Amino acid sequence: MSVQKQYPKCLALLGSTGSVGTQTLDCVRMHPNEFKVLALTAQNNIDLLEKQAREFSVETVGIANLEKAEEFRRRVKGKIHVEEGLEGILKICAYEEADTVLNALVGNIGLRPTLHAMKHKKNVALANKETMVSGGELVMEAARRNKVHLVPIDSEHSAIFQCLNGENKGEISKIILTCSGGPFRGKKLNELKGVTKEQALNHPTWKMGGKITIDSATLMNKGFEVVEAMWLYGVEPERIEVVVHPQSLIHSMVEFVDASIIAQLGTHDMRTPIQYALTYPRRMKCPATRLNLLEAKQFTFEKPDMETFQCLARGYEAARRKGTTATAINAVNDECVGAFLDGKIEFLDIQRTIQKVAEKNRHVTHPVLEDILNADEWARRETRKELGIELSIPVR
Ligand code: MG
Repeated sequence: MSVQKQYPKCLALLGSTGSVGTQTLDCVRMHPNEFKVLALTAQNNIDLLEKQAREFSVETVGIANLEKAEEFRRRVKGKIHVEEGLEGILKICAYEEADTVLNALVGNIGLRPTLHAMKHKKNVALANKETMVSGGELVMEAARRNKVHLVPIDSEHSAIFQCLNGENKGEISKIILTCSGGPFRGKKLNELKGVTKEQALNHPTWKMGGKITIDSATLMNKGFEVVEAMWLYGVEPERIEVVVHPQSLIHSMVEFVDASIIAQLGTHDMRTPIQYALTYPRRMKCPATRLNLLEAKQFTFEKPDMETFQCLARGYEAARRKGTTATAINAVNDECVGAFLDGKIEFLDIQRTIQKVAEKNRHVTHPVLEDILNADEWARRETRKELGIELSIPVR
């Protein structure tokens, strides 16, 4: 593909009002001649969505919440085209003029848009890790079949992607996934009883959305990242090592067969991996903050405590089994984190429930989309039964 054809990039940005979405627009703002935003989508936050649509002269928006979509239509009086619900988001993924879909949706809802975008020959910049956790095999197959790029935005996976640039995957000896350890690093199981939402949301290094911050406190996030790395790079979980690196400045590493280790470093600024996913294989000036090694001073490493943080062990198990076990764990976790943030369950109930419900999952090794959606729905219902609570969000 010629450079002229590659640039400017025409983007559809899914989840524009969230943490990754707003940082994506920082990168777009810096390079108005390189990127054109064709469509934006949001769940509920139509105030910010309207502001973004006006600033970037976006002609189409997608709004997942139907009532909010109606309200938005009334506000803009036909000046901006509005698509609604999941079907509307899927239509945006198929937009003829878009060459890249940046998926920054939160949760399993992101899987169908990823597959739909690939089916319509769009490159996908992927921040929605549930897509890979829940449907990794399907997504990799769709990327291959449609000959599109899939570039991860997750900082660890972007780091690995960068370390592997120009390398032969057959020469990887292992992937070293770094992990901050979260706010409860060093604590034992009995010290985690009764920890509060505020304590769990107080991440030591990264500023992220609520769901992923809780996942970082339980280490479920790292467990998911093992699954994600396995699918993205075709490396078995036995060769994916999680190392706690509290400074979070080395975003991950790859060790090769010749014993050489390549690492990618940077500050805790998601705009580097976001922008790289959009400019790959090029690099461009970025609004991200720069790492000062003299200020950073030291890098330390520890072994993760999988007896206390059992979600990491669940992630490894899911990676070993492949198929719908990861889908089920992801869905149980989603429900539990929602319940924890609503103050309905304790922090340790998250890992306890994941263990209990996921173990009953009817495992399908090579699932089709329907199997994944069924496993997701089953796990959500079981979780609600187990917790004895009704959550506000619908199952599907
Ligand atoms: Mg990450």
